[in-house]
Amino acid sequence: MVKRNLEKISVSKSKKFIVSACLIGKCCFYDGSSKYNPKIKELVDNGVAIALCPEELGGLKTPRPPVEILAGSGEDVLKGKAFMFNKEGKDVTINIVKGSKEFLTVALECGVRKAILKVKSPCCGRGEIYDGTFTDSLRKGNGIATALLLKNNIEVITDSEFSQDRTLTFKKSARSKAVKNKRYGKREKNKGR
Ligand code: SF4
Repeated sequence: MVKRNLEKISVSKSKKFIVSACLIGKCCFYDGSSKYNPKIKELVDNGVAIALCPEELGGLKTPRPPVEILAGSGEDVLKGKAFMFNKEGKDVTINIVKGSKEFLTVALECGVRKAILKVKSPCCGRGEIYDGTFTDSLRKGNGIATALLLKNNIEVITDSEFSQDRTLTFKKSARSKAVKNKRYGKREKNKGR
């Protein structure tokens, strides 16, 4: 039986984004590594994003054997038409579906409107995912967490798209400039004392 993990997560309201936890440096990738992206970590540090890993939410340990969807997409898994197996041949569909549903629940509770998720992952991928052969080959489709978020009208972009998003970069630069001006003004004021 899969244990529920949500009780352990302190859900605070008003987050703009939910992001894949591996993108902020959490070593939750199947091999125990992370996929650290400093720009995405900054969103969490600034309090506008929450980071979670659907596979860990589903009770899978890290490190763990890699998982892929066999002959289908995240949508197919949710319809019961495809299943998820790890490289050792174990069916982990129940874990991943449960973790992805918890990921969605947190997103909805936080009022998230946008997700920034790791490309190609069977949970977090959008548009293309590994094809179930464990040969680094891709097929069209979304991961399970992504499929659930999209179904609930939460926009999903990949970490690569985020890195190229000039709007977000611009907003961030404008905020940094404002912070710098504030600090500079404070120094000037102190000088006059
Ligand atoms: S399930 Fe998503 S958050 Fe977790 S390691 Fe894979 S890509 Fe990262």
